[in-house]
Amino acid sequence: MGKHEIAVVTGASAGIGAATARALAEAGYGVVLGARRLDRLRALAAEIGGQAFELDVTDEASVEAFAAAAGVVRVVVNNAGLSRGLEPVAETDSASWTTMYETNVLGAMRVARAFIPGLIESGDGHLVHLGSIAGFEVYPGGAGYTASKHALRALTKTLRLELLGQPVRVTEICPGLVETEFSLVRFDGDAERARAVYAGLQPLLAEDVAECVVWAVSRPSHVNIDEIVVRPRDQATSTAVHRRA
Ligand code: NAP
Repeated sequence: MGKHEIAVVTGASAGIGAATARALAEAGYGVVLGARRLDRLRALAAEIGGQAFELDVTDEASVEAFAAAAGVVRVVVNNAGLSRGLEPVAETDSASWTTMYETNVLGAMRVARAFIPGLIESGDGHLVHLGSIAGFEVYPGGAGYTASKHALRALTKTLRLELLGQPVRVTEICPGLVETEFSLVRFDGDAERARAVYAGLQPLLAEDVAECVVWAVSRPSHVNIDEIVVRPRDQATSTAVHRRA
């Protein structure tokens, strides 16, 4: 790939997004980073020679301004996402569902919509969505998150149909357990509860998922990797995990 090629990563201030921004920079891309925590973004951008812009995917104007600042790019990694709570549906709070839908579904749609014209114009665009095994599995307490990732999967598959004939590839990366700030956000900063999610097992690292992204975008242009499902060896499904004593 040419050094001039630009890749955008949303949610690049932490976890999978930050690792992906690093890996894409190492692969030779100029990287544009977006997220709400601009201080973290700026530090990472300085380290990898990228550009940082504030982005809130729940805000239409913020997404439009971010896309305008990024310009015509070849790769967009639609990664910003979160989970809130683990209550059964009978006890769930609608605000958590709204936040997850606004971020994981509407946010991803806004980012895709804003960048599609530029991805087409690039002549060799690639849209990568951070889905999850939650896009095709369910677990007790996870209905809000899994419903949002099922919806993201529908959005991704629809885009592959709608962009047929255009020079744009569409890939969904579906990880299982990855140790990031994800569980800390889900449990509202409760570090002990977040740690317990990964206790006794070896989860994926953010870098493992970043490698999948870089591999998918570095295939020849005629090759579309539809999806990659990647889990820890210690996880067979969302609910079947192996923990050592
Ligand atoms: P993380 O460490 O919590 O990182 C989430 C990123 O999303 C942060 O950079 C955060 O940045 C950003 N973000 C959240 N809301 C945003 C908003 N409104 N606007 C812009 N950016 C926003 O979690 P992660 O594990 O890396 O998650 C990344 C993606 O992978 C998510 O889509 C998640 O659903 C998916 N995933 C994670 C796992 C896992 O086990 N960790 C498994 C499968 C899929 P700011 O807070 O600075 O805005």
